[in-house]
Formats: sequence, structure tokens, C-alpha cells
Amino acid sequence: MKHILIIGGGTGGIMTASQLLKRGGVKVSIVEPAEYHYYQPAWTLVGANTFDYEKTKRTMASVMPSEVNWIKDYAEKFDPENNVIEMKSGAKIDYDFLVLSPGIKIDTSLVEGLTEAIDKGVVCSNYTDPKHTWEVLKNFKGGTALFTQPTTPIKCGGAPQKIMYLAEDHFRKTGVKSKTNIVFATNGGVIFGVKPIAKTLMEVIDRKDINIRFGHLLVRIDGEKQIAWYKMADNNKEHNHIDVVTSKDGDLVGIHYDMLHLAPPQTAPDFIKNSPFANEGGWIDVHTGTMQQTKYPNVFGIGDAAALPTAKTGAAIRKQVPVIVENLMRLVNSEELSSKEYNGYSSCPLVTGYGKMVLAEFDYDSNFTPDPKLKRMLISDSSKEHRRLWWLKKYILPRLYWNKMLKGIDV
Ligand SMILES: Cc1cc2nc3c(=O)[nH]c(=O)nc-3n(C[C@H](O)[C@H](O)[C@H](O)COP(=O)(O)OP(=O)(O)OC[C@H]3O[C@@H](n4cnc5c(N)ncnc54)[C@H](O)[C@@H]3O)c2cc1C
Repeated sequence: MKHILIIGGGTGGIMTASQLLKRGGVKVSIVEPAEYHYYQPAWTLVGANTFDYEKTKRTMASVMPSEVNWIKDYAEKFDPENNVIEMKSGAKIDYDFLVLSPGIKIDTSLVEGLTEAIDKGVVCSNYTDPKHTWEVLKNFKGGTALFTQPTTPIKCGGAPQKIMYLAEDHFRKTGVKSKTNIVFATNGGVIFGVKPIAKTLMEVIDRKDINIRFGHLLVRIDGEKQIAWYKMADNNKEHNHIDVVTSKDGDLVGIHYDMLHLAPPQTAPDFIKNSPFANEGGWIDVHTGTMQQTKYPNVFGIGDAAALPTAKTGAAIRKQVPVIVENLMRLVNSEELSSKEYNGYSSCPLVTGYGKMVLAEFDYDSNFTPDPKLKRMLISDSSKEHRRLWWLKKYILPRLYWNKMLKGIDV
């Protein structure tokens, strides 16, 4: 029986294993050191105190399919010429086919001062400690609320702004809004890359009096003085100007904050960057339609660590897994790869307040591609804010994730 070895028991790893086992006739192993598996999409809601953090967490043992051979170790080195990987423990494991799904590495060292500042006092991130985000929002008494993101790729590109919309709603309900200036400083030049979604979000931004500063490249956090420092890109411009305290240091512009939420810089994990599978940027070099590694046909890359020019989300993985599984099964049976390719589908549930959401679904060309199944929920236009979309995010998707997607059931 052919042996398929999967690196990482996160969203991509577990979904791939479950679907492979449903097809049968293969031995599946997963290398995964962690005790817990997290449903990270709900961390946005945890940061806004509308979802219980404990419900985002399950033991790895409980999500690992029973037929999987779970290797509780870190993958460290690859020898793809001999189809062998080496673990941190020194153990060596061979495989016939390899699926890489090790996720993304959060690297706070890429922004000076961030390691010292993050998750302390008024600096928070839903990416690292969503419970602290809620502490910061709850205790905020007014001033400048700064929301920002780094220049590196990040998972769920919409998450840095989702929490801002929820925070604004919270500040309004608690009366803090009248004493607050909300600033969103982003490296990008648009609020979102999909046109109908960007149109709605700009309306939300106007309604909420948010000052957006485009072309702001985050380089330093001064946690003591509460200043975020930026280099200005050529495309820097503003929308809805608000006067907030700023400083200059040479070419750098500093924005003073009374609370700061940010997405930390993110990269491919080191053992991937240093592997023969990495491209120049360190990500797993794969063909964008098949996710087959460009040099080694018996290796596939999936999820956040793969060099796929689309948004890094669990929703994207949901569409990547069936393509990889089909192709793996064909290779196992010595057949040609399928002509059915992954089209870059990804999705971002942009919550715009408590009880409101817009659902961005798109492909490699940033075309808006709403799922026809939304009509069954009486949602005719998911580029517009909708209460039912919020229900989808808060109640339906977590259940589908734990009960169906991780079990290899198509949804
Ligand atoms: C705040 C936030 C909000 C988000 N919102 C959404 C959303 O609304 N919708 C959405 O679809 N997605 C969202 N995401 C993104 C989504 O969670 C990720 O895209 C998805 O989990 C990526 O899956 P993955 O398998 O690539 O990595 P992960 O799920 O992160 O899993 C990687 C696994 O690899 C393991 N691993 C790491 N190193 C090694 C090693 N050396 N050896 C073996 N195993 C290793 C890790 O322990 C981990 O279990 C959000 C993420 C965050 C943080």
C-alpha cells in the first residue's frame, strides 16, 4: 500500500487526510507536534467578545482521523531524492507521496520593537492572543484607536479590518466613540482587492468615520511612547482625514496610538524556507492549478505555506483539498493528473459590525464568485451587508468545520 505522509495537522492536513481515507487503499501518516487544533476564523469574534475562545480549541487527538498514523514530532529536514524526511527527534520516515501543510510562521522580529510590545498593555492582535484584544477594547477610554497590518503576506488578509469594524460598533454602544479617532493604516492601495466588496467596505468606512491611510509600510513599534512608525510608499494617500498626533523621524512618519491592533508579520516556517521545496520568497513552490511541487511530482503543497497567488484562508483550503486528493489518488494508481484545477478560490467573511457581514468570494483574478448555495439562505447579494451572513460566520461555519470539513465531508 502506498504511504502518503502529511506535514501539519491543521486545517489543510486534517482535511486532506480525511478525504484520502474516504477514498481508501492508502496508508496516511501526519507529522504534527501540537496538542491542540484551533478554529482560527473565530478568533475575530473572540477579540470582540462574541465567541468563546475555548470553543475554538479542540485536542489534536479528537480531530485526528482514527486510521491516521499520528507522528507526534516536528518535521525538520527533507531528502526528496530518497523520499525521506527527518524529524527533530532524529527519526527518519520514508514516504511515497508527501503533502506539506505546515501553516504560516508569525515573525514579530520583522518589525522593530514589536516582540517587546505585542500582547501587552494597549497593543493587541487577534493573530496571537484574541482574548487580550477584548481586554484592550473593553478598557479603551478614547483617543486614537489604530488598526494596522504588516508588509508581508498574512493569513486571512481581511482580519486586520474586521476587528476594527467590530471595535467601532462596540465603542459606539459604550459611548466611547465620541472621544475616539479610528485610523486604519495599511500598506495596500485599496481597502479590498475585489471591486464590489471594496465598494461596500468604503461605504462602511464612511458611515463609521474611519480614517484610512494607504501606502503605510509598518517598520517600528515604540511600545513605551505608543507610536507606530511607517515608511511612506509612493501610493500613500488618505481617505476621510482625521487629525491625530503624528511625529517625524527622517523619512518615517509616526502615528501615536491609545490602542493598537495589528496583524504581525508572517513568513513561511523556517524548515520550509530552508528546504529544497521553497521558492525565492521561502514559500512552497507549487503549480497554481494542481498544487504539485514544481520539481518533485510526488510532493504537494497546500494552505498558508504554499506559494499560491490568492488569499491564505481555510476557505481556500476547502477548495484545494479535493484537487490534491484526486491527483494523489490518480498518481497512486499510476494515472495522469486530472484536468480539474484549483482556480484560486478564496473567501473572506468581512464582519462589519455585530450582526452584519459581507462575504468576499473570489478567484485568482479577483473576480467576485459568490457561492450559488447562498441563495438557499435567501442571500441574493453577498457583497452587501447581511444579518444572515453573520449567522453563517458565527453559528454555521464553525459547526460545518468541526463536523463536516475536518471529517472529509464535502460542504
Ligand atoms: C485571526 C484570524 C482570522 C482568520 N479568519 C479566517 C476566516 O474568516 N476564514 C478563513 O477561511 N480563514 C481564516 N483564517 C485563516 C485560516 O485559519 C488559515 O488559513 C488556515 O488555518 C490555514 O491552514 P494550514 O493547514 O495552512 O495551517 P494551520 O491550520 O495553521 O496548521 C498548520 C499546522 O502545522 C503544524 N506544524 C508547524 N510546523 C510543523 C513542523 N515542523 N512539523 C509538523 N507540523 C508542523 C502546526 O502545529 C499546525 O497544527 C484566519 C486566521 C486568523 C489567525
